[in-house]
Amino acid sequence: MNESEWSETMLNLTDMQTVRALAKRHAFSFSKGLGQNFLIDPEVCPAIAEYGIPSPACGVLEIGTGFGVLTQQLALKSEQVAAVELDRRLQPVLAETLRGFENITVIWQDILKVDPAEFVREQFGGREVCVCANLPYYITSPVLMHLLESDAKFRSITVMVQKEAAERLCAEIGSRKAGAVTAAVQLRGRAELMFHVPRTAFFPAPKVDSAVIRITPHEVPPCTPEELKRVLNVVKAGFAQRRKTAVNALAGGLSLDKETVTAALRACGCSETVRFEQLDMETLLRLCEALAGSAGIQ
Ligand code: SAM
Repeated sequence: MNESEWSETMLNLTDMQTVRALAKRHAFSFSKGLGQNFLIDPEVCPAIAEYGIPSPACGVLEIGTGFGVLTQQLALKSEQVAAVELDRRLQPVLAETLRGFENITVIWQDILKVDPAEFVREQFGGREVCVCANLPYYITSPVLMHLLESDAKFRSITVMVQKEAAERLCAEIGSRKAGAVTAAVQLRGRAELMFHVPRTAFFPAPKVDSAVIRITPHEVPPCTPEELKRVLNVVKAGFAQRRKTAVNALAGGLSLDKETVTAALRACGCSETVRFEQLDMETLLRLCEALAGSAGIQ
């Protein structure tokens, strides 16, 4: 079957009557704890698939199928979808909503307990893989870091997150919205905010709005794994006391004397009154290099 034939035959999971009937038939109650807010806007899932899947040959790892509304769209655009879902109560629902899709495998697991590199090897062999998901919001940062810190090489990671998280993750380093997680993500990839999604696009509707972001891992990382570890330590110390001057935040957080930090800042062309949150990515990297040279930070 081609895409339009499928679209006509598959269960329409953006139709509220269908969704309610499905939930009733399977006595399914939505779990707040698992972040179960399912997409019901007919335009959002095709858009995620469009932005997230570069070509049909690229496999897709989906995190959290819910009733399968996004899974269906991913399977129309990619030759192979492997989805990880924690809630086994969804098993009979998916048996119905994904019936006939031979290119979808669902693995019943907690994504944080899955080794992404091993998963990709086992499920996709040598295929290029991207990640697409409407993430459970209670674990947005842990999931992103789990994927980015793994040895898996993803072509891109396109995910729905809470609007404020999207803005933070895509903020420029050196701007007020950036935080430690911004730097941790952007040291590994380019983060872009693709589009906003209102709370009314979900059932049940959450109390917050959302946005879809795409992270494209750097082909040439800005630093070596060893440097990255050092930069992350500095970033953690700096953002923990972001309103303080960088000198005070880093001297306190890294147990260094203030003179050493001041000299390293000066060597990077920064004033000694600069706040840590004002440092852009380039300065941050130079500062870490200077501190490694003068203070021997690890
Ligand atoms: N993709 C569906 C959609 O867009 O309608 C569902 C998205 S819903 C926001 C998040 C999904 O992630 C839920 O189905 C939930 O059960 C699942 N989930 C929650 N925690 C999980 C975890 N640790 N590992 C895998 N899936 C999880």
